[in-house]
Amino acid sequence: MNLEATIRNIKDFPKEGIDFKDITTLLKDGKAFKCAVDQIIEDLKDKNVDVIVGPEARGFLMGTPVAYGLEIGFVPVRKPGKLPAETEKFEYDLEYGTDVLEIHKDAIKPGQRVAIVDDLLATGGTMGAAAKLIEKLGGEVVAMEFLIELEFLNGRKKIDNYHINSLITY
Ligand code: AMP
Repeated sequence: MNLEATIRNIKDFPKEGIDFKDITTLLKDGKAFKCAVDQIIEDLKDKNVDVIVGPEARGFLMGTPVAYGLEIGFVPVRKPGKLPAETEKFEYDLEYGTDVLEIHKDAIKPGQRVAIVDDLLATGGTMGAAAKLIEKLGGEVVAMEFLIELEFLNGRKKIDNYHINSLITY
């Protein structure tokens, strides 16, 4: 199935110069959504993954069906102030300024094998920060799964010591 054909490009969103990859058009196409989730599950099925982590918000959309399919748990990584219990925090660099991501301290047990699922790899900042959070809790990041990779941004360089799988590349 041609997954790329189900992605909508929005020029200059959310600001000029950004070519936004809109995955809502893939999500509302049931066959495409299932095909994408199945491909991620296929890549993970022999990796003995204990838990899926998904960064807010589109990582929730792609990560939860993968967790369901593998019959394992899902753990959200969120922007500051959203998670109710005690959290671990990690601050990371953006193009201008910094951002923070959080995870519940009791979400991952030391030694657990974790796969992170997100919609898109751009600079790799988000994925790198999510991996740091998991490692702070003693988890082992065994895979990073993306629906889309923007290869020209070289995000892989930032996270090149991990197994990376992406379904659509630009
Ligand atoms: P990064 O941390 O730079 O790898 O950015 C990854 C996050 O930003 C992903 O979770 C995406 O949801 C979002 N993102 C970055 N660039 C784009 C883009 N061109 N189109 C859609 N989402 C994007």
